[in-house]
Amino acid sequence: MLSHSHLSFANSTKLRPSHAFCELFGLAQAAVWLLPGLSLAAGRCLSWPVARGSICGWRVLVIKYQRPPGTSDVTPDEAGQWHEIEASFVELCRRHCFSEVRTPIFEDTELFIRSVGSGTDIVSKEMYTFEDRGGRSLTLRAEGTAPAVRAYLENHLMQQDPERVVKLYYIAPIFRYDRPQAGRYRQHTQFGLEAIGSASPAVDVEIIQTTSEFYEAVGIDNALLKLNSVGCPECAPEYVKAIRAFTADKLEQMCEDCVRRYDENPLRMIDCKNEQCRAVVQQGPTMIDTLCQECAEHFAQVRGYLELLGLAYELDPYIVRGLDYYTRTAFEFAAEDIGAQSSIGGGGRYDGLVEQMGGRPTPGVGIGIGVERVLLVRQQLGVAGAEPARSGCFMVTLGDAAWAAGLKLAAQLRGRGLRVDVDYRRRSMKAQLRYADSEKFARALIIGDDELAKGVVAVRDMDSGQQEEVAMGELPEFLRGSTR
Ligand SMILES: [Zn+2]
Ligand SMILES: [Zn+2]
Repeated sequence: MLSHSHLSFANSTKLRPSHAFCELFGLAQAAVWLLPGLSLAAGRCLSWPVARGSICGWRVLVIKYQRPPGTSDVTPDEAGQWHEIEASFVELCRRHCFSEVRTPIFEDTELFIRSVGSGTDIVSKEMYTFEDRGGRSLTLRAEGTAPAVRAYLENHLMQQDPERVVKLYYIAPIFRYDRPQAGRYRQHTQFGLEAIGSASPAVDVEIIQTTSEFYEAVGIDNALLKLNSVGCPECAPEYVKAIRAFTADKLEQMCEDCVRRYDENPLRMIDCKNEQCRAVVQQGPTMIDTLCQECAEHFAQVRGYLELLGLAYELDPYIVRGLDYYTRTAFEFAAEDIGAQSSIGGGGRYDGLVEQMGGRPTPGVGIGIGVERVLLVRQQLGVAGAEPARSGCFMVTLGDAAWAAGLKLAAQLRGRGLRVDVDYRRRSMKAQLRYADSEKFARALIIGDDELAKGVVAVRDMDSGQQEEVAMGELPEFLRGSTR
């Protein structure tokens, strides 16, 4: 049971009066609200007088709860934007015939080490790895492609036909222990697309096209596609050799990371963000010049399809993507406005990955879109923050009989799909109407003693202020077809 004192406490702090919440966490948070700078948590009951400054609970601890560094909350104010861009993404996936896959938040640690590669930053320093109670090493989803490919294999999504093109999408949190920066979080969200089963360059381009349509749909019209090819197991080693030969006598001009990469993963020297390193590699050989004939042919066809479909791009020989499994096409989308943090999505082909993970040789290509980055760019472009339109009805009731009638009516209207709320605080009519207005309800449904006696509801249009009486029984019909 929720005691009266809890109820008034909850009301006074605008906490939802959920019992478990109050008992365990709510008090600490309530204390943050009450006494900025000092947080209190109690193992038991802190009741109403706390709000006045006296404490009647037991076992009071001084604790401050904050979200972990590099994480974010999506508040109700921001949730609308998330819904909007998720809906755009899902709609484009539908049009392009991608189906959703949902994989666990954690996977066998080996899955990431073997696919992403032990020499990569992700595996060497960014994974959230832990041992479960059964002694298994598990890792929070460090990237999206390896789990999708694992699910493709484990669930036989190819359905006996290894050449079947399986098109998947996901909306998933990704966890990386990285330095927190604007739009870059230790838990961030990715919209991902994967097309497994075809080596056709037209599939690379469909991934690019779907992504490009997504950016446009959410109002980012300056997304720039940067394109490269990282070759195949035939020609990539030639390039690695060429890079090593070129940088061997220039290492003292390069950063510490690149000195390490020279031995471990020279390709990563190419996309080092350090200005000095950039200056060095820009004088060196490019992958495109080193491609074998098949890779060169594939790349030419990708470019041909991009031109066919009117998709603008820029060649960028310094896009290598940080993961070992990429082959051939590699690409990134950049938004011009956000400077160093400009990448808003990236991907490429991974023709060796399925086989490496135990399947038959099966080509694949995919992309990951950084959702927080997309939201940041939208903000910078001034796209975000459209005023929500008025919708739904707010029950305005006066007196106990009207309150009861209002509750019944609210249930009935919600059953018919309308957005309806009631005033649990039972305030004055004026306060209820003001609230209905500030919360963007389209209509106020007013019931007082007069209305009850006549069996009607006064329906007020919150935009125009016009009011008309509608018989209570006819109200559902009156509001029918109203989308607001
Ligand atoms: Zn090649
Ligand atoms: Zn460097």
